[in-house]
Amino acid sequence: MRKTGTVISQSWLSEGGAADVVAALMAQGGTARFVGGCVRDALAGRTVRDIDIATDQKPEAVIQLLQDAKLKAIPTGIEHGTVTAVARGRPFEVTTLRVDVETDGRRAVVAFTDDWAEDASRRDFTMNALYCDRDGTVYDPVGGVDDLQAHHVRFIGDASRRIEEDALRILRFFRFHAWYGAGPMNDEGLAACRDRRDDLDRLSVERVRAEMLRLLEAPAPMATLRVMAESGVLQLVLPEACAPHCLERLLEIGEGDALLRLASLTCRRADVLTGLADRWKLSGKDKVRLRRMAAGETEIATGLTDAEARAQVYWLGAERFRDLALLEWASDGQDRQWLVALAEAWSAPSFPVRGADLVGHGIPAGERVGKLLRALERQWVDEGFEPSRAELLARIDSLD
Ligand code: ATP
Ligand code: MG
Repeated sequence: MRKTGTVISQSWLSEGGAADVVAALMAQGGTARFVGGCVRDALAGRTVRDIDIATDQKPEAVIQLLQDAKLKAIPTGIEHGTVTAVARGRPFEVTTLRVDVETDGRRAVVAFTDDWAEDASRRDFTMNALYCDRDGTVYDPVGGVDDLQAHHVRFIGDASRRIEEDALRILRFFRFHAWYGAGPMNDEGLAACRDRRDDLDRLSVERVRAEMLRLLEAPAPMATLRVMAESGVLQLVLPEACAPHCLERLLEIGEGDALLRLASLTCRRADVLTGLADRWKLSGKDKVRLRRMAAGETEIATGLTDAEARAQVYWLGAERFRDLALLEWASDGQDRQWLVALAEAWSAPSFPVRGADLVGHGIPAGERVGKLLRALERQWVDEGFEPSRAELLARIDSLD
């Protein structure tokens, strides 16, 4: 396979768990190479995250070779040729060279091969079909290095056919452009995404959600989202996206993880956010957080005094206060920097009185305890968290 003359020199190639796995796979004369994101990111000067490995060894042999080297082998996706190797406590995906013989737009029936170029041609984009030996030699069967350097995300082969095989590639095309692209998107790829956008409805929500959240996390996703909207793709996967100007401002402010950015794109109506959280099957924690980003119920007003702001951080919780402050700033353009900073820096004290204290004071256990407790808590917050436990307990008799 074509070597590029490009050489990567990074320590994970030859030291650590990934190198152990490659050595194990090559122990009986086979070949194993790093592939995909790790090679792409190393070449782009970005942090390498997960390390994937491709090998000409068949899955059963992969398991045997790993076990011979005393490494753990988990048959995570064995029918697609993927075994997870665990070395020095870290997982590495090892996938046997393969071609997709049959596809239904979602998943493929695969055949194993020992042809590296064939393996490259079933991958999505040229910059994702880069391989690298453990000595750092880069192999580039489809011209991915040039495209990576040109910030050009390009489908391998005929874009429309590649999308017909797997519609997720539409979203991946936009996601990779947001992260690695610059300038106009590849014409052929974009036209194919536009023409085949109705294929998106065959995808599982989990795959759509994962790609969309990764896209939203990109440092500057705005231009890509605009093109997605122009091509009619965004409306299909995220019909709630109606406020690009708010996301744009949030990005200018320089804040926001994927979930906050997602909320800022919508009208932030409670029912809309709840519907989206349900449709995307977000985790329980994310569902609650997204729902609480709804506009209206609580406002983080710019004119708050320091004491009022602290009281609000206390009642809402720092995360929700910060989320709402940023979303409202993005929405009306009024600077809330000090409020965001307050939520990040200040930790609210905890209320020093318990229900048991009231019962100990002679209040019979029951609804009244809760009512009195809440009244005391409100006083404590309104008085700047100043009153001590003893002072608060002394007020019990005067409360109604
Ligand atoms: P990152 O992990 O940073 O998102 P990556 O390139 O490692 O980037 P993965 O989704 O982990 O992306 O996939 C690993 C590799 O598998 C890709 O680089 C690509 O070669 C191939 N691949 C993944 N998904 C697809 C797909 N839907 N169609 C074709 N090839 C794919
Ligand atoms: Mg990866």
